[in-house]
Order: sequence, then structure tokens, then C-alpha cells
Amino acid sequence: MVSTPVGALGSGLGGGVELTLRNIGLALQERGHSIVVMAPQHSVSPGLEILQIPGEMQTTAQTQGRNALVTLPANSVLANLWGAAYQQQRDYDIVINFAYDWLPFYLTPFFNRPIAHLVSMGSLTDAMDHVIGQTLDRFPGSIGVHSRAQAETFPFGSQCRVLGNGLDLSLYQFCAKAEDELGWVGRIAPEKGIEDAIEAAQQAGLPLKIWGAMPDPDYWRSIYQRYPNASFSYEGFLTTGELQQELGQCCGLIMTPKWVEAFGNVAIEALACGVPVIAYRRGGPAEIVRDGETGWLVEPDSVSGLVAAIQKLDKIDRQTCRQTAERVYSMQAMGDRVEGWLRDVLEK
Ligand code: UDP
Repeated sequence: MVSTPVGALGSGLGGGVELTLRNIGLALQERGHSIVVMAPQHSVSPGLEILQIPGEMQTTAQTQGRNALVTLPANSVLANLWGAAYQQQRDYDIVINFAYDWLPFYLTPFFNRPIAHLVSMGSLTDAMDHVIGQTLDRFPGSIGVHSRAQAETFPFGSQCRVLGNGLDLSLYQFCAKAEDELGWVGRIAPEKGIEDAIEAAQQAGLPLKIWGAMPDPDYWRSIYQRYPNASFSYEGFLTTGELQQELGQCCGLIMTPKWVEAFGNVAIEALACGVPVIAYRRGGPAEIVRDGETGWLVEPDSVSGLVAAIQKLDKIDRQTCRQTAERVYSMQAMGDRVEGWLRDVLEK
């Protein structure tokens, strides 16, 4: 498994990919497969063997425009990761790519081992659309995604394998009783639309607790200054164990992405704790949340819609949220989907 080059595992800078990689690795190990993870230096993911690869991090694709060129810094960790994967490929049956970067797709035909690409975001740049499409033409079935909505952002969406995601549910405790507080979890970055959640919580008269990695403190400061009277607090970036404990006490998770969120791990983490999810009706969260059953789906970018949904949170049964997570998003269910995909890639 070759990790994302935007941050070390455990830093939070890799976003949902960090947890996804970890859970897929553990699920495959559980089934008797041997896994080695190649990841940027200083990566931490207990229970997985990690080859620490030095080098400069890659800039995240979502911060660039559609016509962005493909660039790599000097001593690129992306190049170093794939150099190591190339050298060691004979030890493995298959390589799984978790990077949303041009290089691994371009290198695919030069490898002797098959590469399965798990694409973690929707269409963002022409260069990526082109190279992923080219890879798909040559290696049908080798592109996995997390949701149908994410696939549909690409011209070749119908040929992508939709894999969803999954969690080790034993790490998430069901919390039957909630406090009068809302939660927001994610990277604090413009595409996540945190300002809508702050505004909605303020209008609904509930405090908002915020957890997540903060790649750009200036952006956070600007948000902070815009809402001097709102009741919200930044609670830091927590480990999964700590996060589930805090998040479980919320009466609802608010998800306000401004982009087509590929999946939204935080939605299934909330459900696993019994926390209903209020999300804009777009991208992955719209496929995860069952409107009126495990949360409420709201017209995209409508703060008044969020407020109305907050007022209906008590209509959602927290036990149903947990049960849905158990049925659809267990490690077992995800392991079946991913293992089936890898077997198909190997056979082709
Ligand atoms: N996360 C975490 N600790 C925190 C806040 C967030 O570990 O305090 C993790 C969370 O478990 C999730 C990831 O950050 O896996 C955010 O992923 P998501 O898929 O929601 O969005 P992305 O960042 O990939 O766009």
C-alpha cells in the first residue's frame, strides 16, 4: 500500500485517506494477507508495518485550479515512494495506490505488478482526469472510488468501482444520550465550508464543537474573526479513540462541504457513535445519510435548511444510526468489497 504524499500517517494532513488506508490494511491483514505500507517519514499507524520514506511533501490537489500543471518538489516524497515501490514490487502480488497524484497513474504500465488505484477525491484538474482515464482504458477495473457521486464527477465515472468505506466499529462506542451541543469534524479548509455550520449553530442557539487538522491557521483566524459572537470552540485534532468519545456526546454532526465530498469518513464515524448527521445533499454524505432515518439531508448551501434540520434532530433514533453503521460500514463489509476489487484487478 503506497500512502498519500501530502502528509505523514497520523498527522491528519492526509485527511480521510489516513483512516481509510489504515482500515483497509487492517481488514486485509485480518483476512490473512501480508501488507506493507510505504508512507512519508514519521508516519504512525499501529498494527501496520510501515516503510518510512523521506522527502518533501506534495501540495494538495484541492488547492490548485483546473488547469494546474503537474509539479513535484526537489527530493519529492511522491517520487521516492514510487521509486521504492518499483524496486520492491516483486515481493508483492499487487500495489494499492492511495495518492491523488499524476505520477502513480503514469507509472502504472511500467510496473510488472498490477496497481489498484483508490481515488480519494472527485475531479479537480484536467491533468488528473486525463491520466486516470488513460489508466482505466489500459487497465479496466483498476480504479476504485468511494461513492457514486464522486465517480460521476469524472467523464469515465461509470467505469469506476464504488467501494464505500468502513470502520473498526469496536473502536466506536454507542452513546445513547446526547448533550445539547453540535459537532463538526474535518480538515479546516475552505472546501469544507465550516462557516455555514457556525452560522447555523448560532441561529439554532446551540454550541458547536470543532475537531480536525488545521493545515492553514490563517484561514482559521479569518473564520474566528468573522463570528465574534458565535458559540463555537476548536477542540484540536484527536486520535480516533478520543474523537469518538467526544463526538458521541453531540446531538448531531453538521457536514457542510462546498465541494463534492468523495465520501466523508466523519459521517460514518458519527453514525457509529449513534450521532445523527445533517449534511448538504451532495457528494458522498448524501449517499451515506438516510434522510429522516440516520439524519437529515439539506439543500446545498442553505443555512436556513441546516437550522430547520437541527430543530428536527430529536426525531432521529440514535440506535438506528449505530445499526446502519454496523450493517453497511463494518470492516467486514468493507473488506469484502475491497478484497473483491483487488481479486478482479489481479485476474484482469
Ligand atoms: N479526524 C481525526 N481526528 C480529529 C478530526 C478528524 O482523526 O480530531 C479524521 C477523521 O477520523 C477522518 C478524517 O480526519 O478520517 C477526515 O476525513 P474525511 O473523509 O471526513 O474528509 P477529508 O479530509 O478526506 O476530505
